[in-house]
Amino acid sequence: MKRDEQIFDLISAERARQTHGIELIASENFVSDQVLEAMGSVLTNKYAEGYPAHRYYGGCQVVDEVENLAIERICKIYGAEFANVQPHSGAQANMAVFFAVLKPGDTFMGLDLDHGGHLSHGSPVNMSGMYFNAVGYKLNEKTGCVDYDAMEQLAMECKPKLIVGGASAYSREWDYKRMREIADKVGAIFMVDMAHTAGLIAAGLLDNPVKYAHIVTSTTHKTLRGPRGGIILIGKDFDNPWGYTTPKGVVKKMSQLINSAVFPGIQGGPLEHVIAAKAVAFGEALQPEYVEYQKQVKKNAAAMAEAFIKRGYHVVSGGTDNHLMLIDLRNKFPELTGKQAEKSLVAADITTNKNMVPFDTRSPFQTSGLRFGTPAITTRGLKEDKMDYIVGLIDRVLSDPLNEEVIAAVRKEVNELMANYPLFAW
Ligand SMILES: *Cc1c(COP(=O)(O)O)cnc(C)c1O
Repeated sequence: MKRDEQIFDLISAERARQTHGIELIASENFVSDQVLEAMGSVLTNKYAEGYPAHRYYGGCQVVDEVENLAIERICKIYGAEFANVQPHSGAQANMAVFFAVLKPGDTFMGLDLDHGGHLSHGSPVNMSGMYFNAVGYKLNEKTGCVDYDAMEQLAMECKPKLIVGGASAYSREWDYKRMREIADKVGAIFMVDMAHTAGLIAAGLLDNPVKYAHIVTSTTHKTLRGPRGGIILIGKDFDNPWGYTTPKGVVKKMSQLINSAVFPGIQGGPLEHVIAAKAVAFGEALQPEYVEYQKQVKKNAAAMAEAFIKRGYHVVSGGTDNHLMLIDLRNKFPELTGKQAEKSLVAADITTNKNMVPFDTRSPFQTSGLRFGTPAITTRGLKEDKMDYIVGLIDRVLSDPLNEEVIAAVRKEVNELMANYPLFAW
C-alpha cells in the first residue's frame, strides 16, 4: 500500500514542533524510545477482552504475560495490593471508580474545577457532574491552599459517599491523612486521583496516597512519563466503609468491583500495546535514574516559581511543592487574559496553557491565569540554572504580548536554547 505521506508529513511537523520549543504544559512529558517502540508494536493487533487468564478470546498467552508484568511493576512502585492497568485514560479510570462505587444521583465531593480540580471530578459538562450530585470543596482565598476545615464542614453537611483528592492545577502537597479522617467521619470512600503527581510520588518525593486512600487513580503520561493511559490501584489499608471485617476481604471485593467496572462496565478490549508501553515505563520508574529525574523536576519547578515571584508575579499559594505552578496574572497585568498570554507565548515557541485561577473574575474561555510545569523540559535535560532565563523570556513576551518583534526575538532565543537539548535519537 502507498505510504500515507499526508499523515507522516504532519507527524514530522509535530516532531519538529516538539523539538524546537520549550514545553511547559504541566501535564505533558516526553516518553523514552522504548516506550514509543512498545506503543507502536504488533500488540495493537490483539483483542484481549477480559483479564489475564480470564479472556474472551484465544491467543492471549503473550499479552497475559505483558499485562501481568505491568500490574506487578505498578504494584511494586506504589506498594499497592491490586492494580487495573486497562483504563484508556485518566478520565476513564475515574469513571470506572464512580461506576463501581456510586449509584446515579449519589453525592460525592471533589476539588472545585475553578480551584484546580479536574473536569472528571464533577464538572457540570462532564458525566461525573451530570450523573452524580457533585459538591466542590475549595481553596482558602488567603492561602491559596486546600481548606481542610471547610472541607470537613462541607462533608458533614452533604454526607458524600465518595471524597476525591487530587487536582490538575494545584502546586501544594495534600494532607491525605486528614482527608481519610474526614472520609471516615462521614462514612465516605476516599479516592485520590494522583494523575499529575504520580511520578514524584513514585520517586518518593511526595506522600504516597496509596497508604491512605481506599482507591487511587492516575494517568500514566504526565510526571510518571509513560504512554497516554490510566490506572486504578488499591492499597493495603482497609477498614471498613463497606462493612467488611477483614481488610483482605475488602481488597478482594473492591478489586472485583473495579475490574468489572472497567470491563465490561465502561470499556471493551484493552489496548495491549499501550499496556506494554505502560509496563516499560513502570520498569523505568523502578530504576535509580528515575529518582534523580524527579528530583530535578522538583528543583526546576522551585527555581521557576522563585523566578516568577522575583519579577512580581503572583504564584498561587506562594510557591510549589511539586512540578507545577499556577500564575495569577491579575496583579501584574490586569488587562492580560490567560487566553492572550497563551497565544503570545505559543507564537514564541513557549508552550503553556491558560488556566482558571482561584476566585477568577474571567470565564473559562478567557481566564486570568497560566499554568506552568517542568516535567517535559527536565526530560530534555534542562537544569535549575536555566529557569531564571526561561522566566525572563516569558516575562518579555507577557510585558508586550502583541509586539511581533519581541515575539520573534524571543522565539529565536528559544530555538537556539533548545538546539542544545536533543530530544529524539532517531
Ligand atoms: C489529566 C487529569 C485527568 C485526565 O486524564 P486524561 O488521560 O486526559 O483523561 C484526570 N484527573 C486529573 C487530576 C488530571 O490532571
